[in-house]
Order: sequence, then C-alpha cells, then structure tokens
Amino acid sequence: MMALRINTPYANAPSTQFKGNLHTHTTNSDGPLPPQDTVAAYAQRGYDFLMISDHDMITDIAALDAQGMTLLPGNEITDGGPHILHVGARERIAAHPDRQLVIDAINARGGLSIMNHPNWGENFVHCDQGTMEALTGYTGIEIYNGVSLRVEGSALATDRWDMLLSGGRRVWGFGNDDGHIPEDFGVAWNMVFAEQCEPEALYHALRLGRFYVSTGVRLDSIGLAENALRIRSADTECFRVYRDHGMLLATIDGPELIYEPPEYIPLSYLRVECHGRGARMAWTQPFFLA
Ligand SMILES: [Zn+2]
Ligand SMILES: [Zn+2]
Repeated sequence: MMALRINTPYANAPSTQFKGNLHTHTTNSDGPLPPQDTVAAYAQRGYDFLMISDHDMITDIAALDAQGMTLLPGNEITDGGPHILHVGARERIAAHPDRQLVIDAINARGGLSIMNHPNWGENFVHCDQGTMEALTGYTGIEIYNGVSLRVEGSALATDRWDMLLSGGRRVWGFGNDDGHIPEDFGVAWNMVFAEQCEPEALYHALRLGRFYVSTGVRLDSIGLAENALRIRSADTECFRVYRDHGMLLATIDGPELIYEPPEYIPLSYLRVECHGRGARMAWTQPFFLA
C-alpha cells in the first residue's frame, strides 16, 4: 500500500514566529480605548503585530506610534450581513448585503477576508453554515473569537470549520480577541511563521496557512518526519488529532507528537489541537492528505 502523503501548509516556513491579533475595536467604533491606547495595551502584552478593525471604517494607523509592533490596516465589514474582517484594508469596502460582492471586492484589492465569530448569538449562529458554504474566496474563518467567551454563543467554531473542510473547502482557522472591553485583550491570537514582521510577509504567510491559533500554548516546531506529522511543543500536555467531520483519531501525551496517519481509514485532512496547562490551547491548520 502507498503511504498517505501529508501536505503541510508549514512546508518551507521560516522558524521565526510572530504573535498578532487581527480583530479589535477602538473608540472609533464600539471599543473601550482610543486607538493609541489600544496599541499600547497590545504592545505591553508582547504582541508583534496588531490590526485595528473598527466597524465599517478604517482607523488611520499612520497617525499612531506603533510602539515596536507592526500595525496592519483593517476593517470589520458589519452592516447588513455576516461580519467579515478585511485584512490589509487600503480602502473601505462598502458593506453590501451580498457578501460575495464584499469578498470579491476585498480580493480584487489584494486583501484577505475572514468570516467572523460564526457561533456568536443566542442561537449560536451568527452566520449559518449554508451561507458559509455558498460564499467562496475567503481566506478563513475565526475558529476562536475571544469576546464570544463572555457574550451569547460560543467562542469556538471548530465545528463549522470541520464541516467546511470535510466538504473539500480549504479555509484557514484564525483566532482573534475582537476586543470590546479591556478584559477581551490577550485572549486569542495567531502565531505566524514569517521571515520578517512586516505587512506583506505577514499577508503572504496568512494566505499560505503558515500560522496557528493560540490561547496560551506555543508550538516550537511543526513539520514532517517521513510519513509522520511531527509537532514539538514544550507547553503541550496532550495532543488530539482530528479528521474529517471532527472525528477524533488519536490522543497522545506531549511534549512531542509523531503521528503517522493510518492507511485503512478514509481521510482527507488531519488537524491537531494542543492542550496545555489550564484552558490554554493551540490549534494547527489542517494538513490535507493525498
Ligand atoms: Zn463582528
Ligand atoms: Zn468585531
């Protein structure tokens, strides 16, 4: 039998990791602090990059002291439909109710789009699965939305992600604070493997899936060892490997995972959740199998 080949988005990725949040609000919309104080709050927490994403407006980052971080221009397209993050927003895209037009406009201007907080709301649905499946061309979805920990619904949306991935969609998982009060800051972030912490290098890495989501677990390396997936993480007490439709394949104690996918189970992708101390976790991007 031919061994399964693992396609890793982390292939040839630089080993340097940069920590960043792509979703937070300021007093320019419904956030808690003016833009400069928001930047300071993230700089103090050791972030490498930050995107301010006020509702339906682009906060001018050129006027701010980045305090050692890289600031990315952004916007949260809000009115009239499911919220979409516009990463790398050089200009504001109108919040057209047809969200496909919004995503197409973002792509045409070289930006990235992320479907936000799919499971926010009293019925745990901000954007229903049919809509997420019908829309195309977005880079990913928020699999973890920090503010949703303390408001209605679920912060986690790996259920939605597994449904998309099982349907053959290749969308990356993002983790963001979506800060609306200071307590939302520093809840969930993206660790990006890039040569340099500058906008184009970060966008490139985000497009390729060279990042993972964290709420406090660091992954030291993500690679392949022959036909096996290999992850090293001093923070990880337990790895859980999931496959199509969110089915659990394996539970393996940390701090190192060496996992060869079985050939006798039909698999189209694997993804790994890394459990650390307390509620701290990390989520890898999917590894597609051939
Ligand atoms: Zn939103
Ligand atoms: Zn938001």
